[in-house]
Amino acid sequence: MIFKQVEVGGMLNFAYILGDKESGEGLVIDPSWEPEKIFNIANGEGLTIKYIINTHCHEDHVNGNAKMKEMTGALVAIHEDEAKYLRHFFPPEADVKLRDKEVINLGKVNVTVIHTPGHSPGSICLMAKDRLFTGDTLFVGSCGRIDLPGGDGSEFKKTMQRLRNLDDSLVIYPGHNYGDTTVSTIGREKQYNPCLLTS
Ligand SMILES: [Zn+2]
Repeated sequence: MIFKQVEVGGMLNFAYILGDKESGEGLVIDPSWEPEKIFNIANGEGLTIKYIINTHCHEDHVNGNAKMKEMTGALVAIHEDEAKYLRHFFPPEADVKLRDKEVINLGKVNVTVIHTPGHSPGSICLMAKDRLFTGDTLFVGSCGRIDLPGGDGSEFKKTMQRLRNLDDSLVIYPGHNYGDTTVSTIGREKQYNPCLLTS
């Protein structure tokens, strides 16, 4: 599996590139702020970008969609609960409306959608083998705000419970570089992240 973590913009956002070496198929997660930079890295890896997946519809995660779609012709995918916001505020609209447990195939690489509402209604995490892309749901050492429009504290609690139940060895890749490291694991976060600690 081809994998790149790319820091973009002035808000410490992380974009991600995933791809299948054999087929040359790839996808980008939250390709915001500097879509050309992300495109060039993917191109350098020999990937054809098939999907642009947004972990949620906040501006700092989706503002590169239009440019990325123009350059690649890729399909824009977001959870079905946030497709309408994308259409209204940050077009182009979604080509694919994702649901919990849906699987996106890139050659031999499978990416599974996990619906994790709380930070926003249609926030998702994406699982690819032993990696979990957590958007603004979980950061290294902290988690996303729930006081923004669409945030929901009780949904967030359930989401944290769901993440706690995942395998400790899963490697976490957050939507922002807010932690003391750029990457962590569910096991480490269960020990140190106040959002994941059981009360
Ligand atoms: Zn957000």
